[in-house]
Amino acid sequence: GSVCRLESQYEDGMHPKEAQDAAEKTALEELQEVRKSLPIYGYREQLLQAVEEHQVLVIVGDTGSGKTTQIPQYLHEAGYTKRGKVGCTQPRRVAAMSVAARVAQEMGVKLGHEVGYSIRFEDCTSDKTVLKYMTDGMLLRELLGEPDLASYSVVIVDEAHERTLSTDILFGLDIARFRPDLKLLISSATMDAEKFSDYFDTAPIFSFPGRRYPVEINFTSAPEADYMDAAIVTVLTIHVREPLGDILVFLTGQEEIETAEEILKQRIRGLGTKIRELIICPIYANLPSELQAKIFEPTPEGARKVVLATNIAETSLTIDGIKYVVDPGFSKMKSYNPRTGMESLLITPISKASATQRAGRAGRTSAGKCYRLYTAFNYNNDLEENTVPEVQRTNLASVVLALKSLGIHDLINFDFMDPPPAEALVKALELLFALGALNKLGELTKAGRRMAEFPLDPMLSKMIVVSDKYKCSDEIISIAAMLSVGGSIFYRPKDKQVHADNARMNFHTGNVGDHIALLKVYSSWKETNYSTQWCYENYIQVRSMKRARDIRDQLEGLLERVEIEISSNMNELDSVRKSIVAGFFPHTAKLQKNGSYRTVKHPQTVHIHPNSGLSQVLPRWVVYHELVLTSKEYMRQVTELKPEWLIELAPHYYQRKDVEDDASKKMPKGAGKAAI
Ligand code: ADP
Ligand code: MG
Repeated sequence: GSVCRLESQYEDGMHPKEAQDAAEKTALEELQEVRKSLPIYGYREQLLQAVEEHQVLVIVGDTGSGKTTQIPQYLHEAGYTKRGKVGCTQPRRVAAMSVAARVAQEMGVKLGHEVGYSIRFEDCTSDKTVLKYMTDGMLLRELLGEPDLASYSVVIVDEAHERTLSTDILFGLDIARFRPDLKLLISSATMDAEKFSDYFDTAPIFSFPGRRYPVEINFTSAPEADYMDAAIVTVLTIHVREPLGDILVFLTGQEEIETAEEILKQRIRGLGTKIRELIICPIYANLPSELQAKIFEPTPEGARKVVLATNIAETSLTIDGIKYVVDPGFSKMKSYNPRTGMESLLITPISKASATQRAGRAGRTSAGKCYRLYTAFNYNNDLEENTVPEVQRTNLASVVLALKSLGIHDLINFDFMDPPPAEALVKALELLFALGALNKLGELTKAGRRMAEFPLDPMLSKMIVVSDKYKCSDEIISIAAMLSVGGSIFYRPKDKQVHADNARMNFHTGNVGDHIALLKVYSSWKETNYSTQWCYENYIQVRSMKRARDIRDQLEGLLERVEIEISSNMNELDSVRKSIVAGFFPHTAKLQKNGSYRTVKHPQTVHIHPNSGLSQVLPRWVVYHELVLTSKEYMRQVTELKPEWLIELAPHYYQRKDVEDDASKKMPKGAGKAAI
């Protein structure tokens, strides 16, 4: 079930073979020239020598200097891949894919052969693969199957400054300790490498200068009320007034980027034909890979490119030719409240370290300008120095389960670079206990071992594992796949919103909830033999569906591995709903008089997301997939449940008093009508 999305550019069959070979050769030669022009090239020999001499090495170099694309190639050229693979981790999927594609191109090989990538639900590698780019999360999963990483000769933990949860856990596991022949390189774009060095028993630091041109920093004189609008106005002003050179705008996510793209297109049209061409390139995690490649295409003569990016362009991807950076000063960050166990994505002010990185993007090929859409006072007084490491602001259930299955029991004494709050560890243990993954002694149970096989949040894994009991694993993995797609399933073009909404509501007949609606979408699509036409007719995103199918295929494979039979129970949707509740019972909420909801266990006011099929129905009791905070705290993907199920499915978590249904109390008009 693995897929390889990017095809090598060398498969273009339009030229006669010889001409093609010749063209390839010059293209390859040209790429070799480019490789030699990168700042890291001058340090190639020294670097290889340092790697030879030390087992652990910290490498520091500016963004764009060639760390990610060149170091693995140098190691390959120096023969390290004869002893095993060179793995290079990235915090982000897009970066792993994009960099692998680039390196395959530089080496003149087909992506997925000698150079490949592995991200969750997508393995683009083969037996031939010697340079493997992967998300740090994937390396952590590989460790579960190969605790000594025997098939690797070198592991590069790249972008270490990002301090993702997986990177920190990889550090704590100290993978180099048991394998004296394994090289561990830790690479970072920022100068605070001492901390890494200290942590790894004063490992040597190899730092080399990049190429930096001055960047003029501009602040706004007064705070901006609407940073999106300010960003757009700034882009247009640059486009009209400033000399040629591309623009990079940092936004917080896909939705914002799509909105900005639309508004920009409109305003550009409004400016008439006298203005030079402005090419708009979005880049975010769920952007299809063929569109991702667009940001790297050279800007045509006389035109200007504006890249609308998430944090990914801060250090993970280098886009050449950027001269102007527009930095509204925000990013989307996970935040976690260990007291309530609630996790939320929040649009948060960035740190000073991030602001510096962002500005630096403007000065890579020539002098540049950075427009910060916040005041200097704001910068000096309100921004934190550094971004808080993810381990301190996330739900740890998933890594605790992974560590337990690696045989690491003493989590309190785990060697965290920055320890998480003790409460968060306790909360994770409690949750895993409540889910039945751990017993009272904190040991992995059979269910827990099965759950750990799935590269999913433990609540989703539990939902799958429990579906065995309810004989509906077939339906449940479809739902899990649909929930894991990442992008949106429903397509809602601005000019056809009414049609799109009607089409969507067709999947909501019976009003039992969004999970079941997702299931209906998936099974209807399957019945049409995965028809694209059907997707168009029903305002469904084809691409999301294909991804769901890939994910589902893999989940099916994993079911086999944990010896769960595929069984279908489409006529008994209560079984499906019970399986959902058996995994997501900590995410339940009860309707309030004013039409809002209150979470059952740690009371907090939440609302049904307007996109939910239940947003008008307002059932009395619901289970939700996740919370997102925008203007309010919204529950996304909501399904109705019967309160007695909570006692039945999670007796150790809920007491009778939690689920007492004081039906006599007045409810808002029309609420709670859905048939239970
Ligand atoms: P670092 O890891 O030090 O930030 P990289 O190795 O990512 O640097 O980048 C080195 C060079 O390779 C940059 O000039 C960058 O623009 C180029 N590059 C990286 N990925 C791609 C790609 N997918 N397409 C074109 N150029 C790329
Ligand atoms: Mg890099």
